[in-house]
Amino acid sequence: MKQLGVGLIGTGYMGKCHALAWNAVKTVFGDVERPRLVHLAEANAELAAARGAEFGFEKATADWRALIADPEVDVVSVTTPNQFHAEMAIAALQAGKHVWCEKPMAPSYVDAERMLEAARASGKVAVLGYNYIQNPVMRHIKVLVGEGAIGKVNHIRVEMDEDFMADPEGFFYWKSALAGGYGALDDFAVHPLSLLWFLFGHVEAVVTDMVKPYPDRPLQQGGRKAVENHDGANVLMRLAGGISGVLMVNRAAWGRKGRIALQIFGSKGSITYDQERMNEFDLYQAEGRGTEQGYRKILAAPAHAPYDRFIPAPGHGLGFNDLKIIECRELLRAIAGEPSSTVSFADGLRIEKSVHAMAKAFHERGWVTVDD
Ligand code: NAD
Repeated sequence: MKQLGVGLIGTGYMGKCHALAWNAVKTVFGDVERPRLVHLAEANAELAAARGAEFGFEKATADWRALIADPEVDVVSVTTPNQFHAEMAIAALQAGKHVWCEKPMAPSYVDAERMLEAARASGKVAVLGYNYIQNPVMRHIKVLVGEGAIGKVNHIRVEMDEDFMADPEGFFYWKSALAGGYGALDDFAVHPLSLLWFLFGHVEAVVTDMVKPYPDRPLQQGGRKAVENHDGANVLMRLAGGISGVLMVNRAAWGRKGRIALQIFGSKGSITYDQERMNEFDLYQAEGRGTEQGYRKILAAPAHAPYDRFIPAPGHGLGFNDLKIIECRELLRAIAGEPSSTVSFADGLRIEKSVHAMAKAFHERGWVTVDD
Protein backbone atom coordinates (compact mmCIF):
# COMPACT_ATOMS: atom_id res chain seq x y z
CA MET A 1 0.00 0.00 0.00
CA LYS A 2 1.33 3.48 -0.87
CA GLN A 3 2.11 5.99 1.86
CA LEU A 4 -1.13 7.77 2.81
CA GLY A 5 -1.29 11.55 3.27
CA VAL A 6 -3.29 12.46 6.39
CA GLY A 7 -5.46 15.54 6.98
CA LEU A 8 -6.73 16.30 10.50
CA ILE A 9 -9.62 18.71 11.15
CA GLY A 10 -9.92 19.74 14.79
CA THR A 11 -7.22 19.31 17.43
CA GLY A 12 -9.14 19.16 20.72
CA TYR A 13 -9.66 16.02 22.82
CA MET A 14 -10.31 13.70 19.89
CA GLY A 15 -8.04 15.53 17.44
CA LYS A 16 -5.07 14.76 19.66
CA CYS A 17 -6.17 11.09 19.94
CA HIS A 18 -6.26 10.82 16.13
CA ALA A 19 -2.88 12.56 15.82
CA LEU A 20 -1.36 10.15 18.35
CA ALA A 21 -2.83 7.20 16.45
CA TRP A 22 -1.54 8.39 13.07
CA ASN A 23 1.89 8.93 14.64
CA ALA A 24 1.98 5.52 16.36
CA VAL A 25 0.27 3.08 13.98
CA LYS A 26 3.47 2.11 12.13
CA THR A 27 5.50 1.77 15.33
CA VAL A 28 2.89 -0.45 16.99
CA PHE A 29 1.86 -2.62 14.06
CA GLY A 30 4.92 -2.55 11.82
CA ASP A 31 3.10 -4.06 8.83
CA VAL A 32 1.87 -0.74 7.37
CA GLU A 33 3.44 2.20 5.57
CA ARG A 34 4.11 5.09 7.95
CA PRO A 35 1.37 7.67 7.21
CA ARG A 36 2.53 11.15 6.17
CA LEU A 37 1.04 13.89 8.38
CA VAL A 38 0.30 16.41 5.65
CA HIS A 39 -2.26 19.01 6.67
CA LEU A 40 -4.03 20.10 9.85
CA ALA A 41 -6.96 22.52 10.23
CA GLU A 42 -8.18 24.41 13.29
CA ALA A 43 -10.69 27.17 13.91
CA ASN A 44 -8.03 29.93 13.80
CA ALA A 45 -4.59 30.30 12.20
CA GLU A 46 -2.64 30.73 15.45
CA LEU A 47 -4.03 27.55 17.02
CA ALA A 48 -3.59 25.67 13.74
CA ALA A 49 0.09 26.66 13.53
CA ALA A 50 0.75 25.75 17.16
CA ARG A 51 -0.98 22.37 16.93
CA GLY A 52 0.57 21.66 13.53
CA ALA A 53 4.03 22.01 15.09
CA GLU A 54 3.10 19.97 18.20
CA PHE A 55 1.44 17.13 16.31
CA GLY A 56 4.05 16.99 13.52
CA PHE A 57 1.97 18.07 10.50
CA GLU A 58 3.67 19.66 7.49
CA LYS A 59 1.00 22.32 6.83
CA ALA A 60 -1.55 24.08 9.04
CA THR A 61 -4.59 26.15 8.09
CA ALA A 62 -7.65 27.92 9.49
CA ASP A 63 -9.57 26.90 6.34
CA TRP A 64 -10.60 23.23 6.47
CA ARG A 65 -11.71 23.44 2.81
CA ALA A 66 -8.07 24.13 1.83
CA LEU A 67 -7.09 20.91 3.61
CA ILE A 68 -9.74 18.98 1.71
CA ALA A 69 -8.61 20.50 -1.59
CA ASP A 70 -5.00 19.48 -0.90
CA PRO A 71 -4.04 16.77 -3.45
CA GLU A 72 -1.47 15.38 -1.01
CA VAL A 73 -4.21 14.45 1.48
CA ASP A 74 -5.67 10.95 0.97
CA VAL A 75 -7.55 10.44 4.24
CA VAL A 76 -9.25 12.99 6.50
CA SER A 77 -9.81 12.71 10.26
CA VAL A 78 -12.90 14.75 11.22
CA THR A 79 -12.71 15.51 14.96
CA THR A 80 -14.76 18.69 15.21
CA PRO A 81 -18.00 19.13 17.20
CA ASN A 82 -20.95 17.05 15.94
CA GLN A 83 -22.69 19.81 13.99
CA PHE A 84 -19.72 20.08 11.56
CA HIS A 85 -19.34 16.38 10.79
CA ALA A 86 -21.78 16.17 7.87
CA GLU A 87 -20.46 19.20 5.97
CA MET A 88 -16.81 18.23 6.45
CA ALA A 89 -17.14 14.49 5.86
CA ILE A 90 -19.29 14.95 2.75
CA ALA A 91 -16.88 17.53 1.28
CA ALA A 92 -13.94 15.20 1.95
CA LEU A 93 -15.68 12.21 0.34
CA GLN A 94 -16.70 14.29 -2.67
CA ALA A 95 -13.06 15.33 -3.06
CA GLY A 96 -12.12 11.63 -3.22
CA LYS A 97 -10.67 11.27 0.29
CA HIS A 98 -11.22 8.43 2.75
CA VAL A 99 -12.84 9.63 5.99
CA TRP A 100 -12.36 8.73 9.67
CA CYS A 101 -15.10 10.72 11.40
CA GLU A 102 -15.74 10.98 15.10
CA LYS A 103 -19.03 9.71 16.46
CA PRO A 104 -21.90 10.46 16.25
CA MET A 105 -22.38 11.05 12.52
CA ALA A 106 -24.59 14.15 12.84
CA PRO A 107 -27.29 15.59 15.09
CA SER A 108 -29.86 15.26 12.27
CA TYR A 109 -30.75 11.88 10.79
CA VAL A 110 -31.17 13.44 7.34
CA ASP A 111 -27.59 14.73 7.51
CA ALA A 112 -26.36 11.30 8.63
CA GLU A 113 -28.16 9.76 5.64
CA ARG A 114 -26.46 12.30 3.35
CA MET A 115 -23.12 11.24 4.81
CA LEU A 116 -23.82 7.60 3.94
CA GLU A 117 -24.96 8.56 0.42
CA ALA A 118 -21.74 10.55 -0.10
CA ALA A 119 -19.68 7.59 1.13
CA ARG A 120 -21.45 5.20 -1.24
CA ALA A 121 -21.14 7.59 -4.21
CA SER A 122 -17.43 8.14 -3.56
CA GLY A 123 -16.47 4.48 -3.26
CA LYS A 124 -14.05 5.61 -0.53
CA VAL A 125 -13.74 4.16 2.96
CA ALA A 126 -15.79 6.02 5.59
CA VAL A 127 -15.66 4.86 9.19
CA LEU A 128 -16.69 6.24 12.58
CA GLY A 129 -14.70 6.63 15.79
CA TYR A 130 -16.35 3.90 17.87
CA ASN A 131 -13.12 3.03 19.65
CA TYR A 132 -14.57 0.85 22.44
CA ILE A 133 -15.19 -2.07 20.06
CA GLN A 134 -11.42 -2.15 19.48
CA ASN A 135 -10.51 -3.21 23.02
CA PRO A 136 -8.77 -6.62 22.83
CA VAL A 137 -10.80 -7.61 25.91
CA MET A 138 -14.05 -6.71 24.13
CA ARG A 139 -12.96 -8.74 21.11
CA HIS A 140 -12.41 -11.72 23.40
CA ILE A 141 -15.81 -11.26 25.03
CA LYS A 142 -17.27 -11.51 21.51
CA VAL A 143 -15.36 -14.77 20.94
CA LEU A 144 -16.62 -16.20 24.25
CA VAL A 145 -20.24 -15.24 23.53
CA GLY A 146 -19.94 -16.74 20.03
CA GLU A 147 -18.50 -19.97 21.45
CA GLY A 148 -21.44 -20.29 23.85
CA ALA A 149 -19.25 -19.91 26.96
CA ILE A 150 -22.24 -18.44 28.83
CA GLY A 151 -24.93 -20.32 26.90
CA LYS A 152 -27.77 -18.51 25.11
CA VAL A 153 -27.70 -14.80 25.93
CA ASN A 154 -31.07 -13.54 27.13
CA HIS A 155 -30.49 -10.24 28.96
CA ILE A 156 -28.05 -7.34 28.74
CA ARG A 157 -27.57 -4.30 30.94
CA VAL A 158 -25.29 -1.46 29.92
CA GLU A 159 -24.63 1.84 31.65
CA MET A 160 -22.46 4.74 30.47
CA ASP A 161 -21.76 7.43 33.04
CA GLU A 162 -19.32 10.33 33.37
CA ASP A 163 -19.34 13.44 35.55
CA PHE A 164 -17.95 16.12 33.22
CA MET A 165 -21.39 17.80 33.21
CA ALA A 166 -22.31 16.99 36.82
CA ASP A 167 -21.53 20.47 38.17
CA PRO A 168 -24.69 22.61 37.81
CA GLU A 169 -22.40 25.67 37.54
CA GLY A 170 -20.31 24.23 34.68
CA PHE A 171 -20.34 26.59 31.68
CA PHE A 172 -22.83 26.17 28.84
CA TYR A 173 -21.00 24.93 25.71
CA TRP A 174 -21.90 23.14 22.48
CA LYS A 175 -22.75 19.88 24.22
CA SER A 176 -25.71 21.56 25.99
CA ALA A 177 -27.09 23.06 22.76
CA LEU A 178 -29.58 21.40 20.41
CA ALA A 179 -26.91 21.66 17.70
CA GLY A 180 -25.03 19.03 19.76
CA GLY A 181 -28.03 16.68 19.52
CA TYR A 182 -30.41 15.17 22.10
CA GLY A 183 -27.67 15.24 24.75
CA ALA A 184 -26.59 12.03 26.47
CA LEU A 185 -28.21 9.94 23.72
CA ASP A 186 -25.90 11.32 20.97
CA ASP A 187 -22.97 11.82 23.28
CA PHE A 188 -23.07 8.52 25.17
CA ALA A 189 -25.78 6.06 24.10
CA VAL A 190 -24.13 5.61 20.71
CA HIS A 191 -21.04 4.10 22.39
CA PRO A 192 -22.88 1.28 24.24
CA LEU A 193 -24.95 0.79 21.09
CA SER A 194 -21.75 0.24 19.11
CA LEU A 195 -20.79 -2.46 21.64
CA LEU A 196 -24.21 -4.10 21.45
CA TRP A 197 -24.01 -4.01 17.64
CA PHE A 198 -20.50 -5.51 17.76
CA LEU A 199 -21.56 -8.30 20.13
CA PHE A 200 -25.18 -9.03 19.23
CA GLY A 201 -26.48 -6.98 16.29
CA HIS A 202 -28.80 -4.03 16.14
CA VAL A 203 -31.53 -2.92 18.53
CA GLU A 204 -35.08 -3.60 17.28
CA ALA A 205 -37.41 -1.66 19.63
CA VAL A 206 -37.06 0.85 22.48
CA VAL A 207 -38.94 2.82 25.14
CA THR A 208 -37.24 5.77 26.85
CA ASP A 209 -37.25 8.25 29.69
CA MET A 210 -34.89 11.24 29.56
CA VAL A 211 -33.72 13.61 32.29
CA LYS A 212 -32.49 17.21 32.32
CA PRO A 213 -31.01 17.65 35.82
CA TYR A 214 -30.14 21.36 35.41
CA PRO A 215 -32.47 23.74 33.51
CA ASP A 216 -29.79 26.37 32.77
CA ARG A 217 -26.02 26.94 32.94
CA PRO A 218 -23.77 30.02 33.24
CA LEU A 219 -22.27 31.54 30.08
CA GLN A 220 -18.55 32.31 30.00
CA GLN A 221 -19.32 35.93 29.00
CA GLY A 222 -21.83 36.32 31.87
CA GLY A 223 -25.53 35.57 32.30
CA ARG A 224 -27.18 32.15 31.99
CA LYS A 225 -28.55 30.10 29.12
CA ALA A 226 -31.30 27.46 29.15
CA VAL A 227 -29.96 23.93 28.62
CA GLU A 228 -31.43 22.65 25.33
CA ASN A 229 -31.01 18.88 25.66
CA HIS A 230 -30.98 16.02 28.19
CA ASP A 231 -27.94 14.88 30.19
CA GLY A 232 -29.41 11.48 31.05
CA ALA A 233 -31.60 8.75 29.55
CA ASN A 234 -32.96 5.35 30.60
CA VAL A 235 -33.97 2.97 27.82
CA LEU A 236 -35.56 -0.48 27.69
CA MET A 237 -34.60 -2.35 24.53
CA ARG A 238 -35.43 -5.43 22.50
CA LEU A 239 -32.58 -6.87 20.46
CA ALA A 240 -32.47 -9.50 17.74
CA GLY A 241 -32.84 -13.08 18.94
CA GLY A 242 -35.24 -12.18 21.74
CA ILE A 243 -32.56 -10.55 23.93
CA SER A 244 -33.96 -7.94 26.33
CA GLY A 245 -31.79 -5.01 27.31
CA VAL A 246 -31.51 -1.98 29.56
CA LEU A 247 -29.41 1.05 28.62
CA MET A 248 -28.75 3.89 31.07
CA VAL A 249 -26.64 6.94 30.24
CA ASN A 250 -25.76 9.95 32.39
CA ARG A 251 -23.13 12.61 31.78
CA ALA A 252 -23.96 14.36 35.09
CA ALA A 253 -23.09 11.34 37.26
CA TRP A 254 -20.76 12.59 40.02
CA GLY A 255 -17.99 10.08 40.71
CA ARG A 256 -18.23 8.22 37.44
CA LYS A 257 -15.25 9.09 35.22
CA GLY A 258 -15.43 6.80 32.20
CA ARG A 259 -17.86 4.06 33.11
CA ILE A 260 -19.27 1.80 30.43
CA ALA A 261 -20.55 -1.09 32.52
CA LEU A 262 -21.77 -4.05 30.54
CA GLN A 263 -23.46 -7.14 32.02
CA ILE A 264 -24.32 -10.03 29.74
CA PHE A 265 -26.50 -12.81 31.15
CA GLY A 266 -26.87 -16.17 29.45
CA SER A 267 -28.37 -19.58 30.17
CA LYS A 268 -25.03 -20.96 31.45
CA GLY A 269 -23.24 -17.96 32.92
CA SER A 270 -22.54 -14.26 32.67
CA ILE A 271 -19.84 -11.74 31.71
CA THR A 272 -19.27 -8.31 33.22
CA TYR A 273 -17.01 -5.51 31.96
CA ASP A 274 -16.42 -1.87 32.87
CA GLN A 275 -14.50 0.58 30.67
CA GLU A 276 -13.08 2.23 33.82
CA ARG A 277 -11.19 -1.06 34.27
CA MET A 278 -10.71 -1.71 30.58
CA ASN A 279 -7.93 -4.29 31.02
CA GLU A 280 -10.08 -6.92 32.68
CA PHE A 281 -13.44 -8.66 32.59
CA ASP A 282 -15.23 -11.16 34.82
CA LEU A 283 -16.54 -14.50 33.58
CA TYR A 284 -19.02 -16.64 35.52
CA GLN A 285 -19.69 -20.15 34.29
CA ALA A 286 -22.37 -22.13 36.13
CA GLU A 287 -20.46 -25.41 36.36
CA GLY A 288 -18.65 -27.44 38.98
CA ARG A 289 -19.58 -27.56 42.66
CA GLY A 290 -21.68 -24.74 44.09
CA THR A 291 -19.12 -24.35 46.87
CA GLU A 292 -16.52 -22.98 44.40
CA GLN A 293 -18.73 -21.11 41.95
CA GLY A 294 -17.91 -17.45 41.43
CA TYR A 295 -16.66 -14.89 38.91
CA ARG A 296 -13.19 -15.36 37.44
CA LYS A 297 -11.28 -12.15 36.75
CA ILE A 298 -9.39 -12.30 33.47
CA LEU A 299 -6.67 -9.72 32.84
CA ALA A 300 -5.77 -8.44 29.38
CA ALA A 301 -2.81 -10.36 27.99
CA PRO A 302 -0.85 -10.92 24.76
CA ALA A 303 -3.23 -13.85 24.06
CA HIS A 304 -5.94 -11.22 23.46
CA ALA A 305 -4.82 -9.87 20.07
CA PRO A 306 -3.70 -7.22 19.26
CA TYR A 307 -2.57 -6.52 22.86
CA ASP A 308 0.66 -8.33 21.90
CA ARG A 309 1.52 -5.58 19.39
CA PHE A 310 1.77 -3.05 22.21
CA ILE A 311 3.43 -4.99 25.01
CA PRO A 312 4.60 -8.61 25.48
CA ALA A 313 3.72 -8.84 29.19
CA PRO A 314 0.23 -9.79 30.49
CA GLY A 315 -1.56 -7.66 33.06
CA HIS A 316 0.33 -4.43 32.24
CA GLY A 317 -2.62 -2.93 30.42
CA LEU A 318 -3.49 -0.77 27.43
CA GLY A 319 -5.00 2.73 27.58
CA PHE A 320 -7.77 4.68 25.83
CA ASN A 321 -5.40 6.09 23.20
CA ASP A 322 -4.29 2.57 22.30
CA LEU A 323 -7.87 1.81 21.22
CA LYS A 324 -7.56 4.68 18.74
CA ILE A 325 -4.29 3.20 17.41
CA ILE A 326 -6.05 -0.15 16.87
CA GLU A 327 -8.95 1.69 15.19
CA CYS A 328 -6.44 3.44 12.92
CA ARG A 329 -4.92 0.06 11.94
CA GLU A 330 -8.42 -1.27 11.15
CA LEU A 331 -9.10 1.80 9.02
CA LEU A 332 -5.89 1.15 7.08
CA ARG A 333 -7.03 -2.46 6.56
CA ALA A 334 -10.34 -1.20 5.15
CA ILE A 335 -8.50 1.21 2.83
CA ALA A 336 -6.32 -1.70 1.64
CA GLY A 337 -9.50 -3.66 0.86
CA GLU A 338 -8.86 -6.20 3.64
CA PRO A 339 -11.44 -7.43 6.17
CA SER A 340 -11.53 -4.95 9.03
CA SER A 341 -13.33 -4.36 12.30
CA THR A 342 -14.73 -0.85 12.05
CA VAL A 343 -18.12 0.83 12.27
CA SER A 344 -18.87 1.89 8.69
CA PHE A 345 -21.17 4.82 7.88
CA ALA A 346 -23.87 2.21 7.04
CA ASP A 347 -23.70 0.58 10.49
CA GLY A 348 -23.26 3.99 12.11
CA LEU A 349 -26.48 5.17 10.47
CA ARG A 350 -28.36 2.22 12.02
CA ILE A 351 -26.90 3.17 15.42
CA GLU A 352 -28.13 6.75 14.89
CA LYS A 353 -31.52 5.44 13.83
CA SER A 354 -31.75 3.66 17.20
CA VAL A 355 -30.91 6.92 18.98
CA HIS A 356 -33.60 8.83 17.07
CA ALA A 357 -36.07 6.03 17.89
CA MET A 358 -35.12 6.41 21.58
CA ALA A 359 -35.83 10.16 21.47
CA LYS A 360 -39.10 9.52 19.62
CA ALA A 361 -40.13 6.95 22.24
CA PHE A 362 -39.51 9.55 24.96
CA HIS A 363 -41.68 12.15 23.21
CA GLU A 364 -44.43 9.64 22.34
CA ARG A 365 -44.27 7.92 25.74
CA GLY A 366 -44.36 4.41 24.30
CA TRP A 367 -42.45 1.63 22.53
CA VAL A 368 -40.96 2.53 19.13
CA THR A 369 -39.76 0.01 16.54
CA VAL A 370 -36.41 1.22 15.20
CA ASP A 371 -37.03 0.27 11.56
CA ASP A 372 -40.52 1.85 11.32
P1 NAD B 1 -13.21 19.56 21.41
O1 NAD B 1 -14.05 20.77 21.66
O2 NAD B 1 -12.19 19.15 22.42
O3 NAD B 1 -12.43 19.71 20.03
C1 NAD B 1 -13.03 20.16 18.86
C2 NAD B 1 -12.00 20.95 18.08
O4 NAD B 1 -12.54 21.31 16.82
C3 NAD B 1 -11.61 22.26 18.79
O5 NAD B 1 -10.20 22.30 18.91
C4 NAD B 1 -12.16 23.32 17.87
O6 NAD B 1 -11.41 24.53 17.88
C5 NAD B 1 -12.10 22.62 16.52
N1 NAD B 1 -12.97 23.24 15.52
C6 NAD B 1 -14.22 23.76 15.68
N2 NAD B 1 -14.65 24.28 14.53
C7 NAD B 1 -13.68 24.08 13.62
C8 NAD B 1 -13.54 24.40 12.23
N3 NAD B 1 -14.51 25.02 11.56
N4 NAD B 1 -12.40 24.06 11.60
C9 NAD B 1 -11.41 23.41 12.27
N5 NAD B 1 -11.47 23.09 13.59
C10 NAD B 1 -12.59 23.42 14.24
O7 NAD B 1 -14.25 18.39 21.13
P2 NAD B 1 -14.01 16.83 21.31
O8 NAD B 1 -14.38 16.44 22.70
O9 NAD B 1 -12.68 16.46 20.74
O10 NAD B 1 -15.20 16.28 20.39
C11 NAD B 1 -15.02 16.27 19.00
C12 NAD B 1 -15.81 15.10 18.42
O11 NAD B 1 -15.29 13.89 19.00
C13 NAD B 1 -17.29 15.13 18.78
O12 NAD B 1 -18.01 14.70 17.68
C14 NAD B 1 -17.42 14.15 19.93
O13 NAD B 1 -18.71 13.53 19.98
C15 NAD B 1 -16.34 13.14 19.58
N6 NAD B 1 -15.79 12.43 20.75
C16 NAD B 1 -15.54 11.09 20.61
C17 NAD B 1 -15.03 10.39 21.68
C18 NAD B 1 -14.74 8.93 21.52
O14 NAD B 1 -14.55 8.21 22.51
N7 NAD B 1 -14.66 8.43 20.30
C19 NAD B 1 -14.75 11.04 22.90
C20 NAD B 1 -14.98 12.42 22.98
C21 NAD B 1 -15.51 13.11 21.89
